Amino acid sequence: MDTPTPSPSSAASYPPATTLADLRHNLDAVQARIQAACQRVGRAPEEVRLLPVSKTIDEARLRLAHAAGCTFLGENKVQEAHAKWQAMADLTDLRWSVIGHLQTNKAKLVASFASEFQALDSLRLARALDRRLQEEGRSLDVFVQVNSSGEASKYGLAPEDVAAFVRELPAFSALRVRGLMTLAALSPDAARVRACFVLLRDLRDRLRQDAPDGIGMDELSMGMSGDFETAIEEGATVVRVGQAIFGARALPDSHYWPTESGA
Ligand SMILES: *Cc1c(COP(=O)(O)O)cnc(C)c1O
Repeated sequence: MDTPTPSPSSAASYPPATTLADLRHNLDAVQARIQAACQRVGRAPEEVRLLPVSKTIDEARLRLAHAAGCTFLGENKVQEAHAKWQAMADLTDLRWSVIGHLQTNKAKLVASFASEFQALDSLRLARALDRRLQEEGRSLDVFVQVNSSGEASKYGLAPEDVAAFVRELPAFSALRVRGLMTLAALSPDAARVRACFVLLRDLRDRLRQDAPDGIGMDELSMGMSGDFETAIEEGATVVRVGQAIFGARALPDSHYWPTESGA
């Protein structure tokens, strides 16, 4: 896994948000930064969806986030997402996006409650999800995860494998394909981070030209607390932001990103 890199994701830059006022303040600040980034490149702010990422945040604070207007939350581990969904089932407008790598044997869990899944990276998983969704009579918005950084620790398809993968997806009618997702290099080198976003956008643009019927290729989920403005400048339509809303997490990301053995 990545060794933790000193980056904007340090506790000093992200003070903890514990009250409704803190959360409102941070959400407003992130939205203002989204607008400013859009303005710099002549994009409409409505083109960019902020997906608050709530991993490690407890139920009490998530209820405050909901009161502050968050109705769609991202979680990278499916068990944690499912437990929170169950605990907050009374909030009927609250929906969940699973944004982290998923083992095929957990497809059933995702199919049972999630509204969106952003880490599709194998046909085996697509098949398992589709079968479970058909059983539940549900469908799911999905993003194909691409490894744009070349880092061995990152999940996702190699860019050169995505076109052939996407051609297989019309077979899975319960999956509503929306676009691509990536995690940029975890690097203090801004040019290296930006190159990951450019790669994803170029790939999306090429795929869009001959996307199979019913396969959406408009969305680009890219950018997190440390790099979402760069991602927006390069075309992000979804930014996944945790720490800039909720405060710094105690441990580096490598701890939370599931591995094949763990999770
Ligand atoms: C945690 C996480 C994020 C958000 O990262 P922050 O640094 O909290 O903004 C985005 N995407 C994925 C896949 C994550 O696991």
